[in-house]
Amino acid sequence: MSVAAHRRVLPEAPARRGWCPGLSRPMPTGDGLLARVHPPLGILTLPQARAVAEGARRFGNGHLDLTARANLQIRGVSEATRAPLARLLEAAGLGDTRADGGPQRLTLTSPLAGHDPAETFDVPALARAIEAAGLAVARLPPKTLVVIEGRAGAEMPDADAYVFCRAPGEVGIAIAAERGFHDLATCTENEAPAAIAALLKAFARSGLRRMRDLSPDACDAMEDAVRLALQAQVPSPVRERDRVRDATSPESAHPSPQPSPAWERGHGGLTSDVAHFFPPAGLTMLAARQSVLTVDAPFGRCTADALDRLVDLAARLGAKEIRLSPARGFVLLLPAAAQADPAALARDFIVAPDDPRRSVAACTGAPACASGSTPTLADAASVAEAFRPFAVDGRAAHVSGCAKGCARPGPADLTLVGRDGLYGAVIGGAPGDEPAMHLPIEAVLERLGRAKTMGLAAAFASDRARTDIGRTRRPA
Ligand code: SF4
Repeated sequence: MSVAAHRRVLPEAPARRGWCPGLSRPMPTGDGLLARVHPPLGILTLPQARAVAEGARRFGNGHLDLTARANLQIRGVSEATRAPLARLLEAAGLGDTRADGGPQRLTLTSPLAGHDPAETFDVPALARAIEAAGLAVARLPPKTLVVIEGRAGAEMPDADAYVFCRAPGEVGIAIAAERGFHDLATCTENEAPAAIAALLKAFARSGLRRMRDLSPDACDAMEDAVRLALQAQVPSPVRERDRVRDATSPESAHPSPQPSPAWERGHGGLTSDVAHFFPPAGLTMLAARQSVLTVDAPFGRCTADALDRLVDLAARLGAKEIRLSPARGFVLLLPAAAQADPAALARDFIVAPDDPRRSVAACTGAPACASGSTPTLADAASVAEAFRPFAVDGRAAHVSGCAKGCARPGPADLTLVGRDGLYGAVIGGAPGDEPAMHLPIEAVLERLGRAKTMGLAAAFASDRARTDIGRTRRPA
């Protein structure tokens, strides 16, 4: 069912109130304060995008981060520029929504949400309703995230909770808990906001910060809360059908999608379903009358001037808005006939799906972050080029300024962790894992060159281990 034909009766989110945008809890970094901007539903109107670029240029250091939650960060803000930046963004409608430390943006949807003909319910309307429900929940942990997916059978990014299409007309609700994906209920899209509100209240009462820490007993409490919230509503045919299905065949009642392993892997080698959340860089067709221009920010960073140039292009091509992608990029929805040439943006952005930088995560590093001792962004560009043969296979690398691993806390095929100007090399592990060795960047690149023929593990084995491999023909 096309979204355009699918009308709903969901409540709208309340109007935004006047908190300092992104600065109610600014984060100090090596290059000043970091101002977080949370565009509603990850969408900027063109004037809002201009305001962000102007704010970054006038009140920051001209640099922006794009986050994996499809938000923005303005870097290099000072105590003196914090208030005028807040006023500028507030006037653009980008102020914070709450001042209680809860999530400024609770939901994550595909950047194509509302325009993808394969969606079976109105994803933006449901996201607005869930945002409104979340605002009324006190003590909600700031990183709480609800992914909403309107395609049947699609993989989804990691999150705390999921609202997804179980079948046409049926919405599933699930959480990612201590023991994995935990299915909670089936309902209609109109019933989902109340069910999620009950879930969020129960979660806030748990005192935990992420749902992945919920024990099986705590999951049962979440399920009870959702069931009671649904029972308080007029019974729908969907829930009656689900009840009968549960009673007759409890094991097969819920075909549940799973969080995407690609989210953890990075963004190389994506399936078409995951590409719904992470559209490939370049120009693709969405439907007969619409095309999609996707550009990714190299290592999640761009300049205010680059954003301005993107807005110029969007205006010329007839786009009304700029959407943020969890692949740390921007998405323009264009008329199919628009003469869009992605190469026009190649100086500022990644415009090709096989660009190896899409497979390499990197944090700010030195000198912008005081915890870093290596220039991670410059080094990541060199690593990406040397990593190209592995990126083609869907493998991922991470260049981290220190063991905190801000850009990618989880494991990667190759993780390089900065320390005292060198990189610790971890194969198949996370930034906090013990490195096999510490190397200057030149030696890292040299070993990556060798890895093309001998493989990553052998190329980054310690010299002692490599000798053992030669002697025994088995990895040490
Ligand atoms: S990983 Fe370390 S160096 Fe990189 S941004 Fe985070 S704290 Fe800074």
